[in-house]
Amino acid sequence: MKFDPSSKIHDYLVFGEFGGVNPSITDSSTYTFLSPEKMEELFEHEIEGCFLYSRHWNPINKSLSEALARFEDTESAQVTASGMGAINCAVMQLCNTGDEIVSAHTIYGGTYALFKNFLPKFGIETKFVSIVNLDKVKSAITEKTRILFCETISNPLLEVANIPELSKIAKENNLTLVVDNTFSPMIVSPARLGADIVIHSMTKFINGTSDCVAGCICASNDFISQINDINSGSSMLLGTVLDSYRAASILKNLHSLHIRMQKHSSNALYLAEQFKKLGCKVFYPGLKEHSQHELLKSMMNDGFGYGGIVALDLQDKDKAKKLMTLMQKEKVGYLAVSLGYFKTLFSSPSHSTSSEIPDEEQKEIGLTKGLIRFSVGLDNDIEEKFERIKKCLQNIT
Ligand SMILES: *Cc1c(COP(=O)(O)O)cnc(C)c1O
Repeated sequence: MKFDPSSKIHDYLVFGEFGGVNPSITDSSTYTFLSPEKMEELFEHEIEGCFLYSRHWNPINKSLSEALARFEDTESAQVTASGMGAINCAVMQLCNTGDEIVSAHTIYGGTYALFKNFLPKFGIETKFVSIVNLDKVKSAITEKTRILFCETISNPLLEVANIPELSKIAKENNLTLVVDNTFSPMIVSPARLGADIVIHSMTKFINGTSDCVAGCICASNDFISQINDINSGSSMLLGTVLDSYRAASILKNLHSLHIRMQKHSSNALYLAEQFKKLGCKVFYPGLKEHSQHELLKSMMNDGFGYGGIVALDLQDKDKAKKLMTLMQKEKVGYLAVSLGYFKTLFSSPSHSTSSEIPDEEQKEIGLTKGLIRFSVGLDNDIEEKFERIKKCLQNIT
């Protein structure tokens, strides 16, 4: 065990207002000052333990941010109202008109659409490359490039980014390496491998109950101060603040994340191995056949497995649709987008979460119409669940 993110969280004690074991929910948008002088001072610079207005900071958001910073081993963190909010805050803070981003081409559909369709309105262009081809990454960099962007384990094809090598490239070219770690919390700690900024959609595994949308940015003290600057900070001025009720519930869920990741991972590995035995085309970084299996092994923290996402390629759109319909009927899980829920969720990325990516590009990156992405749940009876899936598979041909 080199690094254990879960023990970092458990070592962090925050007391509630009345000594409660959970910190109190901040039920206020604004805070009183005992003197006008103190208020003036706070507008000039942050004062430890002193709050102004909840879009800027509030106590429970600060507690959750502190826990997340420890967990990703960064100096600081900020929580946001969504994962997209986190990505926007980071990118808008780093880029000016005329700047460029070099991004992995297999990324979350929303991020892809932001980079491809929305940011060009502000004169920010993105070059998409295969992140596993480091030469392609290098040759996409120009003097206008500011950000190198990737996901640790990509959505939905589960390619693994070589974070130490990407970090070297970023440093050589004076770029900021931004890593979306949504698929692999606990498993990989990108900042320890050289990432400058680590992003999560907390909507997924970190919260784990599919009852809210939230995100976070883990980075240096300097960067978190920049995004919170009342005159020029993206978090402050784009208004992506997380609601304090949600911050409180996410902080509680964060404390069981290590146990959930272990179970998601062991269940996913079991399903991936069984799919393989059936002769299906399956993508899972825990399988020896996966192109970046050894790479992931070299980067991961011990004890949390290879993650909860498995992609099964049936190579045929109608078969995929039939299988998903049957699996829902047989109570394998829900036909739903998103991931990290305690029950199994499955969807066809080509028609849903990655539909922002044009057909010809989907083909190029190997995303077929018959691909089903499983977010494997916390089932205690995964062998029995697999028997149900197997029956469904037998009934689609
Ligand atoms: C869901 C997701 C996002 C976006 O997060 P939201 O919380 O839905 O805004 C970003 N990146 C990845 C990898 C995701 O899965």
